Amino acid sequence: MNMDRSRLNVDPQTTASILVADDDPRLLKSLADLLEKQGYWVSPALGGKAACQALEQNRFDLAMLDLRMPDMDGFDVMAHAARVQPDCGIIVVSGESSFSAVSRALRRGAQDYIKKPFDPDELLATLEAMLGKRTLIRAHADVQRRLEKSEALHRYIVNSSPDIVFMLDNKGHFCFVNSKIESLLGYRPDDLNGEHFSIILDEQDVVRGTYALRDPSISADNPRTLEVSLKTRGSRKANRYFEVTAFPIDHETWPATAEPQDPKCTTKARFYGTARDVTERKEAEAFINFQAYHDLLTRLPNRALFKDRLNLAITQARRNDQKLAVMFLDLDRFKIINDTLGHAMGDRLLQAVTQRLENCLRKGDTLSRFGGDEFTLLLPAIASHDDARQIARKLIQALRKPFQLAEHEVFVGVSIGIALFPEAGNSLDQLIQNADIAMYHVKARGKDGYRFYSETMSIDSANRLSLERDLRRALDNDELRVFYQPQVCANSGQIVGLEALVRWQHPERGLLYPRDFLPLAEETRLIVDLSEQVLSKACQQVKRWIAQGHDNLRLAVNLSPIQVDHPRFVENLLQQLQSLNFPAGNLEIEITENVIMSDLEQISLKLRELAERGIRIAIDDFGTGYSSLNYLHRLPIHTLKVDQSFVKAIRNGDDGACIVNAIVAMAHGLKLDIVAEGVETDSQLAYLRGLGCHQVQGFFYGPAQPADAISRMLGLQQVSAAV
Ligand code: C2E
Ligand code: MG
Ligand code: MG
Repeated sequence: MNMDRSRLNVDPQTTASILVADDDPRLLKSLADLLEKQGYWVSPALGGKAACQALEQNRFDLAMLDLRMPDMDGFDVMAHAARVQPDCGIIVVSGESSFSAVSRALRRGAQDYIKKPFDPDELLATLEAMLGKRTLIRAHADVQRRLEKSEALHRYIVNSSPDIVFMLDNKGHFCFVNSKIESLLGYRPDDLNGEHFSIILDEQDVVRGTYALRDPSISADNPRTLEVSLKTRGSRKANRYFEVTAFPIDHETWPATAEPQDPKCTTKARFYGTARDVTERKEAEAFINFQAYHDLLTRLPNRALFKDRLNLAITQARRNDQKLAVMFLDLDRFKIINDTLGHAMGDRLLQAVTQRLENCLRKGDTLSRFGGDEFTLLLPAIASHDDARQIARKLIQALRKPFQLAEHEVFVGVSIGIALFPEAGNSLDQLIQNADIAMYHVKARGKDGYRFYSETMSIDSANRLSLERDLRRALDNDELRVFYQPQVCANSGQIVGLEALVRWQHPERGLLYPRDFLPLAEETRLIVDLSEQVLSKACQQVKRWIAQGHDNLRLAVNLSPIQVDHPRFVENLLQQLQSLNFPAGNLEIEITENVIMSDLEQISLKLRELAERGIRIAIDDFGTGYSSLNYLHRLPIHTLKVDQSFVKAIRNGDDGACIVNAIVAMAHGLKLDIVAEGVETDSQLAYLRGLGCHQVQGFFYGPAQPADAISRMLGLQQVSAAV
């Protein structure tokens, strides 16, 4: 007697469904009626087989079984129910009441036993109690299932978080870490639980990290966020950067903090935090930052960073009353190389140049690429011009050796303008601009060298015009003076020569020195007239001294590259000497190495011609310019003038003294005279004497002075006539 559940007007969700099985139709019906009346959904089964069939077709909360049924007894039905519906509750309703039958039924899985004939109230009470218990068990199982589901959900949410999620106890030991840490940093959560968080923190962030957690103002509403570097483990090499947000756990919001999350960790979770991997962002930021302040080709600081550093250096120099130097470097011949060999080679050249320049610098100096083939250099806190001069020379020297670009060997030079703070400018822009101006003056004078900025270089065009007018007037009005600096034999103390050094007695500005007006004179080519006047005055003066018995007195005059370059240079000079009637053998001309190297062939012809007439040739400032020693013995040179900076170094006791040794040894080898310039102390004098350098010039014997002072020195007071 099977019944289809759907035909009954009962709610299968809330109404318990009960299988009733008995072989007695009358009893079966009365039991079924009783239960249906109570609102249960009842399925009556006449006999054991029908009961088994019903168990296979419908789900039941409960089965009420007779034990003794002829076709199949209650025990077998119970066994079948245990197989097909193990959670169906069973109550035996039987006339059998022997202890063995009851206990057998209970062992087979019956939960209760009602004896026939039954009392309906007792039966219903048993039934209800049984169903109530079952509902409880089911509800518990349901809660358990939901809990497991929820736990799995939260575990999934926490472990699939893109961030590391962690909890720490009050001492900073991990109580929980999600599995994300393994993919990001290589640690297994189990290895970290119980460990102090500092074991994964980069050493330099430990103090900051610890301090952040101790901050009393930190709370869930006011969490601490800080960027730290975390150590990785395993095959990963570099640290990674994380943005960590942490706050103390609010025990009211989550009272379960009482329970430690990991058996190794005996204390309670006190802090909750997340750590987001920001490595890529940091790297991108670092790159953008680098790009904003560096030149990508040479990796040098760019203009913006240079200006920033210069600003700082100026502030510092002002505060400490120090000097600093700004150099403006421009490569010579770069454009030609770039145009002929192509930009790729040009780029390689710039990189190679950068490397050589950088090797010349000290820590703290800033070399920057200003653009194209222009570089700027900041030397903070230098002691004197000499420091800057030495670096400039080193830089020039460093670029002199050829560069190998694939199969090409190329030569570049560099023109360097130098502006010193504070004398060449008080502000950043002024210093850079003035160094640039000085650099242009180097370019104008044959490139490949350095110059310090001087005021006349940058006078604006109006001022320049007026100075040029002044200078022309000076030439017309005879405002130029010639001062003479003695060149003395170190052994005898005798004056053997005099270097003529020009001065300008300016009507308003007083006595001006060559650095104040020579650059302008060269630029405006007034130097040609100026030199003519100087030579004329000097020759006339020295001629007088010669006439007074100083037969071998030598007159040394400085020549500007512009004069030497002039196609009629030799002719003009010889003509002038002739008209002045000055003995050529008493004249020494001073030229610099750069002049010689600018056009070796031409210059060599010119010098040869002069030398043949008896004029002596001296290399001025020897050792500071283009010292291609190779050519020294091929040119008619008589004297090397050791530059003052090397002589100064004798006092300082640095490598400069070695250079003097080398120059003197070389001059001896080449049988050249040698004059040491800038001798100021007797220890320098003694040192030079010891080397066998016998001619010296410098403040030790006196500065350049007007003719009458020299006359006194020569013991020729009476000749100090009109010049
Ligand atoms: P220079 O030919 O190397 O001249 C030496 C410079 O050093 C002179 O500066 C001289 O006064 C200075 N001096 C000499 N002894 C000492 C010393 O012991 N210590 C120090 N600190 N300095 C010393 P000055 O007269 O200012 O001349 C500067 C430069 O101007 C000269 O360098 C020369 O290149 C150029 N110059 C001077 N007069 C003429 C000229 O008539 N024609 C041309 N073309 N150039 C000239
Ligand atoms: Mg000189
Ligand atoms: Mg000199």
